[in-house]
Amino acid sequence: MKKVIVMLCALVIGLSAPAFAQVKIGMVIDDLRLERWQRDRDLFVNRAEELGAKVYVQSANGNEQTQIAQIENMISRGVDVLVIIPTNGQVLSNVIKEAKIDGINILAYDRLINNADIDFYLSFDNEKVGELQATALLATQPSGKYFLMGGAPTDNNAKLFRQGQMNVLQPKIDAGDIQVVGDQWVDSWLAENALKIMENALTANNNDIDVVVASNDSTAGGAIQALEAQGLAGKVAISGQDADLAAVRRIVEGTQTMTIYKPIAALATKAAELAVDLGNDKAPDQNAVLNNGMKDVPSWLLEPVAVNKANLKTTVIADNFHAEKDVYHQ
Ligand code: BGC
Repeated sequence: MKKVIVMLCALVIGLSAPAFAQVKIGMVIDDLRLERWQRDRDLFVNRAEELGAKVYVQSANGNEQTQIAQIENMISRGVDVLVIIPTNGQVLSNVIKEAKIDGINILAYDRLINNADIDFYLSFDNEKVGELQATALLATQPSGKYFLMGGAPTDNNAKLFRQGQMNVLQPKIDAGDIQVVGDQWVDSWLAENALKIMENALTANNNDIDVVVASNDSTAGGAIQALEAQGLAGKVAISGQDADLAAVRRIVEGTQTMTIYKPIAALATKAAELAVDLGNDKAPDQNAVLNNGMKDVPSWLLEPVAVNKANLKTTVIADNFHAEKDVYHQ
């Protein structure tokens, strides 16, 4: 909307419209300290610039107040579109209201923003991520003591991963095959927090844990450090997500059971294209609809892939997500 008005004004005062046609995108990222988001940023910015857009990027380093201030800053810079990877998807309703008053379109990137007037949501099928994690762990360890390690409690995805995990685990719990010996959520998805949680869980259970249902690779990394200290790394099955380089290396050495590969290039490229469309007030195609508590949000969901030692080469490496030499020759 905003862009259309600017272009009309340009025409009225006799300036050539193309000079004003550049879409301005504000990308606000939860936390660039995690490897995953650096990749998203680079791919997104490259594609958006290829399409002629200008992108401003900011990272909140996991702080929701910082993120709100950064969104306000993007609004005053006069962006046409906001691409938001929310730190806390529950607290952005008001600032998004301000953005909408200024005619800014909003794309929720990877994580849903709840109770807010967003225009589009782009992500992976996150419940499926959790199902793939639990299925792989069950295949390795069909019974025994399971420790649940959820992600950041402020991240809607963390809840979807858990939902997916429970879809698969609950029948086994009900049948008495699996015993859940603990259930914790890791603030900010940080490895150092996961390390402490795992140390405490091991102490509380006398090291008697067979499986850790970790929701991503950074938390798996912290948990594995605690397992290593007790001589248990490689003996306890543990999941992950993101196909971070450190994680695929752990899979090769046998200390992590699996990860989830999400082709980030597909996500980031699609997001850049969607953002440019939204900046030009074009309604993008959708393949899903998710309700965010305020509205049915047009969405696009991509497919995640389970990765273990056996298919590492045909997935992560074949796609050049990581180079073979980086994975195997450490
Ligand atoms: C993403 C994961 C990521 C996690 C921590 C989630 O919302 O879907 O891929 O590991 O955030 O950044």
